[in-house]
Amino acid sequence: MERIRVLIAGSGPAGYTAAIYAARANLAPVVYTGMELGGQLTTTTVVENFPGFPEGVDGTVLVDNMRRQAERVGAEIRTGTVTSCDLSSRPFKVTVDGSVEVEAETLIIATGASAKYLGIPGEQEFRGSGVSACATCDGFFYRKQDVAVIGGGDTACEEAVYLAGMCNKVYMIIRRDQMRASKAMQEKVASRSNIEILWNSLPKEVVGDLRGVSGIKIEDKFSGESRVVPVSGVFLAVGHHPNSEVFAPWINVDKEGYIQTQSDSPKTNVPGVFAAGDVADVHYKQAITAAASGCRAAIEADRFLQGQ
Ligand code: NAP
Repeated sequence: MERIRVLIAGSGPAGYTAAIYAARANLAPVVYTGMELGGQLTTTTVVENFPGFPEGVDGTVLVDNMRRQAERVGAEIRTGTVTSCDLSSRPFKVTVDGSVEVEAETLIIATGASAKYLGIPGEQEFRGSGVSACATCDGFFYRKQDVAVIGGGDTACEEAVYLAGMCNKVYMIIRRDQMRASKAMQEKVASRSNIEILWNSLPKEVVGDLRGVSGIKIEDKFSGESRVVPVSGVFLAVGHHPNSEVFAPWINVDKEGYIQTQSDSPKTNVPGVFAAGDVADVHYKQAITAAASGCRAAIEADRFLQGQ
């Protein structure tokens, strides 16, 4: 069976940064990309807060540059998803795509987080035909139409601003009387005249028929009154859940599934297993913090191997 010194699961900033550091330490890292190649950066537009890019940088370009940099310094990038593992003893046994089995001396989990859905009626029924969690992927289909974005975080603001550039009207449906988003993002929303914010509004149902989505039913948080906002697209931006399910039987996770690492370290409770990026980040969830934790995980993997 193939034995890998540093196996990295995930292809966002955490995974690729870990790969760059591990490759430069001569550890011949192998990255399994996972299903969402490039991670969440590929679903954003311009990233303005990653240092080194005074004019901002396209998220997809940024993460693709990281991949190319990792490859250039010797990391091997493989298309595949870790589907199960046995971390009870070393070398760890890792199964990829349900059938390929490899052994790993160390494992860096950088599987990130995926968009959450609400669980309201109509949401799954119209997923892919009116309901989306990625404006940059699907916004094009709603050109000159009216759409709704659900959520009041940075992602929701980013999606709303992006959609405002191509849609007729964008409703932001926010369940409180304030946004969670940063001031900078809120200002961008405020500068777009075709974004209307519906405060204190609880999303209740995606309404539609065989032709697709025709509206989103919302309920006023205080009066309980409900109404249907007529839109042809509903974009969800209500946060993310960590992609830790495959590893959770072996390592400590919190009640939401975030991998628990030792304080100020990417070490998990299993020696030789490290976690980096959004899968272990309850607080920051930024591309730059993910990259930094990938660096730390690779350095710790190197130290661990040297100690063996
Ligand atoms: P988030 O900050 O957790 O915001 C989620 C939003 O969805 C909140 O407004 C939340 O409302 C709302 N929400 C959650 N469940 C809901 C429900 N059942 N019904 C209605 N609304 C619901 O998630 P995010 O926007 O994806 O951001 C995640 C992290 O990535 C953040 O740290 C953010 O700063 C970062 N990020 C940064 C950028 C950037 O810097 N450019 C871009 C994107 C994301 P409540 O506020 O009431 O909970």
